[in-house]
Amino acid sequence: MNDPIWRGVIDRYKEYLPVTDKTPIVTLFEGNTPLIEAKNLMRELGNNLRIYLKYEGLNPTSSFKDRGMTMAVSKALEEGSRAVMCASTGNTSASAAAYAARCGMQCVVLIPEGAISLGKLSQAMMYGARVVAVKGNFDQALDLVREITDRYPITLVNSINPYRIEGQKTGAFEICDVLSQAPDYHAIPVGNAGNITAYWKGYKEYKQAGKIDTLPKMIGFQAARSAPIVEGRVIEHPETIATAIRIGNPASWKKAEEARDESDGLIDKVTDSEIIKAYKMLAHLEGIFVEPASAAGVAGVIKLNKRGYFPKDSLVVCILTGHGLKDPDRAVKVSEPPVVVPARLEKVVELLGY
Ligand SMILES: *Cc1c(COP(=O)(O)O)cnc(C)c1O
Repeated sequence: MNDPIWRGVIDRYKEYLPVTDKTPIVTLFEGNTPLIEAKNLMRELGNNLRIYLKYEGLNPTSSFKDRGMTMAVSKALEEGSRAVMCASTGNTSASAAAYAARCGMQCVVLIPEGAISLGKLSQAMMYGARVVAVKGNFDQALDLVREITDRYPITLVNSINPYRIEGQKTGAFEICDVLSQAPDYHAIPVGNAGNITAYWKGYKEYKQAGKIDTLPKMIGFQAARSAPIVEGRVIEHPETIATAIRIGNPASWKKAEEARDESDGLIDKVTDSEIIKAYKMLAHLEGIFVEPASAAGVAGVIKLNKRGYFPKDSLVVCILTGHGLKDPDRAVKVSEPPVVVPARLEKVVELLGY
């Protein structure tokens, strides 16, 4: 019987993770995020799917990155490191900065100048990271971080750090624990491709351990103008409003293709307008506010459903990777602005049509 008090993903799933009793666990009690049945969305799509939403925006720094960061920072501390570094489209830096603060480590983050959202930037700054803006894109920032962490005593905490993947695979365990089975399909946005890699690893390990009998088909979605895996080539200048997946040369490219092929799934792309549509549907229909990148998986499910891809009554889990308040500017831009009226009762009532 598990301890009823939640103390983070390492505490809960340590038998599946590369930790020992000596590992100093750096945690903000991440994980244990809700798996929400999307009743209204299911009805909207014609009731031929069972859709569950894994709301990863409810992690301590409001994205799934915390699952991997608790592992990466705990292991860095165990190995005697005093500093961590990452390149980031925003959420990795927010998470690294928080977990480094938690254990008194230094944190350096390299961000593409002007390309990260205000919420994420404010987090890294508040948690006390050294924030460096690079005149270049994410891929260039990651190249710099790889070189610097090769030469200096700083631990790299991007998802090429294998401990990140280890921590992130716990998302798959939680889904199976709640459903008492694996889903038929696992829909997920794909950027640097660490998360699709991690979930696939998690499902396979749970099957190996006899916790589930079947494996899901992994269906990943890139943004249309940032779709290197779909197009089979590096994208030099990736573009999309979904900044968290604006990546032209994914670090876990091969692993993502393995997840796709081993699971008999697919990796497809969705346009920015399909992403925005799903983004608004999640908020309007389900009361769930995510950042644009997080809506890419749902946009993909909507697209494939229209094509008749899914057998009837398939069980689909969509990973909602990050919280909507990360990028409030985008939400305001795609919504109706507030109507301005004089501070008089009859004006407000008139506006409401009474
Ligand atoms: C990091 C991130 C992604 C992409 O995950 P990868 O592991 O890079 O594929 C998607 N959505 C959000 C909100 C993210 O922070």
